[in-house]
Amino acid sequence: MRGTVLYAPGDVRVEDRPDPRIEQPTDAVIRLAASCVCGSDLWPYRGIEPVDGPSPMGHEYVGVVEEVGSEVTTIRPGQFVVGSFFASDNTCEICRAGYQTHCVNRQPGAPTGAQAEYARIPLADGTLVATPDTPADDLVPGLLAASDVLGTGWFAAVAAEAGPGRTVAVVGDGAVGLLGVLAARRLGAERVVAFSRHADRQALAREFGATDVVTTRGDEGVAEVRELTGGLGAHSVIEAVGTQESMLQAIRATRAGGHVGYVGVSHDVSLPGEELFSSGVHLHGGPAPVRRFLPELIDLICARQIDPGRVFDLELPLDQAAEGYRAMDERRAIKTLLRP
Ligand SMILES: [Zn+2]
Repeated sequence: MRGTVLYAPGDVRVEDRPDPRIEQPTDAVIRLAASCVCGSDLWPYRGIEPVDGPSPMGHEYVGVVEEVGSEVTTIRPGQFVVGSFFASDNTCEICRAGYQTHCVNRQPGAPTGAQAEYARIPLADGTLVATPDTPADDLVPGLLAASDVLGTGWFAAVAAEAGPGRTVAVVGDGAVGLLGVLAARRLGAERVVAFSRHADRQALAREFGATDVVTTRGDEGVAEVRELTGGLGAHSVIEAVGTQESMLQAIRATRAGGHVGYVGVSHDVSLPGEELFSSGVHLHGGPAPVRRFLPELIDLICARQIDPGRVFDLELPLDQAAEGYRAMDERRAIKTLLRP
């Protein structure tokens, strides 16, 4: 099959790779309907995370089940499925509490190599959720978004306790931040403030329900959010970047007693203890348990109540994955969808 491999920073190739097979009796193999490039794929692409030899890429996926292992009982060949980027059993005590990314049997980064024609999905019964029917083709991008960026933005909004009467600020205008805007509005937030300096992303944030856009960042941006909220700060802040600056911006934009939902993969973030101590702010986040939200998100997408697929502003055939990475790296695209 064809699959995407990162050889070194900036060096993405699509090449012939071995067809995935059932390795464990709990595995499934799926034929990808679509895959995409994640903002987190850009960390190794840019050389900020080390690349340990050729690495198959891709962890966001939707597709049709080809084959299942002998112990798979709920997922069947022919079903259209959406899964999340950590395989989980969905039965342990941690999973049942809604934290499938911390499952005692979790397999982080599983599947790897979903920017390909086929992928092996471990723990298929726990990881995959089937759609009610084979979805119409125009629903595929939205379902693909549910696999990571929508589920992650949704978790961030829930962790930040976005809800009726609340003002929610969103740090980060990538796909996760933009879908955090959508989630916050859907959860009933009264006001959603998007931080963004890019006209195209501001427009999409407004389409997803942002009521205000702040174009400054850092302490200047914090001051603007405080000004919009009578000097108090937002009730809820979504952090969807993962840098020291963005994390402090999120914490400082939150009012005392408010909540930060942080989902940007943390890179060299070090929090000042004294400032945290005096802030009175709740922090909750980490790798999003997307699996918790998949059934609800699939229903909303299939009923056309939400259209998260709008974050894909570039669609390419799989063989042009390298251009998909470049376009995102150069911020010519918010998110690239790849069709095998
Ligand atoms: Zn579990």
